[in-house]
Amino acid sequence: MSTQQPEETEPEEQLDSALVTARRQLERAATHVDVDDGVIERLKHPTRVERVSVPLERDDGSVEVFTGYRAQHDDVRGPYKGGLRYHPEVNADECIGLSMWMTWKCAVMDLPFGGGKGGISIDPKSLSDDEKERLTRRFAEELRYVIGPTTDVPAPDMGTDAQTMAWFMDAYSMQQGETIPGVVTGKPPVIGGSYGRGEAPGRSTAIIAREAVDYYGEDLEDTTVAVQGFGSVGANAARLLEEWGADVVAVSDVNGAIYDPDGLDIESIPTHEEEPEAVMQQDAPETLTNEEVLELDVDVLIPAAIGNVITADNADDIAADVVVEGANGPTTFAADTILEERGVPVVPDILANAGGVTVSYFEWLQDINRRKWSLEEVNAELEEKMLDAWNEVRAEVEGKDLSWRDAAYVVALSRIAEAKATRGLWP
Ligand code: GLU
Repeated sequence: MSTQQPEETEPEEQLDSALVTARRQLERAATHVDVDDGVIERLKHPTRVERVSVPLERDDGSVEVFTGYRAQHDDVRGPYKGGLRYHPEVNADECIGLSMWMTWKCAVMDLPFGGGKGGISIDPKSLSDDEKERLTRRFAEELRYVIGPTTDVPAPDMGTDAQTMAWFMDAYSMQQGETIPGVVTGKPPVIGGSYGRGEAPGRSTAIIAREAVDYYGEDLEDTTVAVQGFGSVGANAARLLEEWGADVVAVSDVNGAIYDPDGLDIESIPTHEEEPEAVMQQDAPETLTNEEVLELDVDVLIPAAIGNVITADNADDIAADVVVEGANGPTTFAADTILEERGVPVVPDILANAGGVTVSYFEWLQDINRRKWSLEEVNAELEEKMLDAWNEVRAEVEGKDLSWRDAAYVVALSRIAEAKATRGLWP
């Protein structure tokens, strides 16, 4: 029998669920804003969480049952709004935490929506197209009684896309007996989707990165950027920042990162949607791991892949001058504190990637009004909404000497609390 002792290792940070992080952020932000304790307590809990079983007939004829969720956090300002994700780690707590972030995101942007989020616990890579369609149609049917264009409006998120939304809208509409495009956003333009919706979260992330660079007195032409993730957020943000003159020196996908200190040719790299996992197939002077890309000494770091990537374990090694969150929840609460102590500003997800839900709002307006906006109109309105929100958050940063995250929460919470106070608690 071996008597060897297990090797001593540094204790790693236990990664919090999105719900724990969201609640901690809320408690912290509540100390900076004059909002009734009862409102804060209420906002720690979702209105409801629908949990459904989604049976799927596989292509080989066998049947598997998956679990789906829809968390509806708060609707004081309007219908619940937020994505549906297909990912193995989807569970009730994750959906609740993400739905809370949607409530704040819609309020920061001053959109007439509350927060929702849902999804199915499944690996989307394990699905054929036909299986994904059957799963989505059945999921739409299971959620039919809790969603609708004036109650709860889903959208794409990780593992779902415009085609997924098209199937979802079709299944819902067929059961309701009429075409109801406003039940989901992020659809293809041919069936009521908005031009510019696909690239919107990346566009807003780029706009906010551009404003942050300017705020800290730098010139975008002299700025280096590293982007983790090359899906709809990361790739579109990288492309726009390159177009606006920045040097994007590193980008990554699940397989790793490519790095060129003189700047990559971003336009030539296919996005995940155009060709999955193409990043590492490009020629570049150096390759890095996904962890290394976060620690590059760049002006701007954009984590735009998954949550919980900047943690207490690597926060001390983040060498960027500013972090702009493209993904939802990429920074843990502990890492946030370390970065703040180190003086590294973190511009939060609920502001930076809010272009997605903002163009979703434009899409919903187009759907219920039965009219179409041009791409130019969408991008001009998005630019205006992003600058308004940026200026409102910046005023809190400067006026109350807050972090960007706390300032964004203050803007959001003030609006939500005022709406709750004005409507009152009933009965
Ligand atoms: N899933 C996206 C987000 O996290 C968009 C939600 C929406 O458009 O409703 O912001």
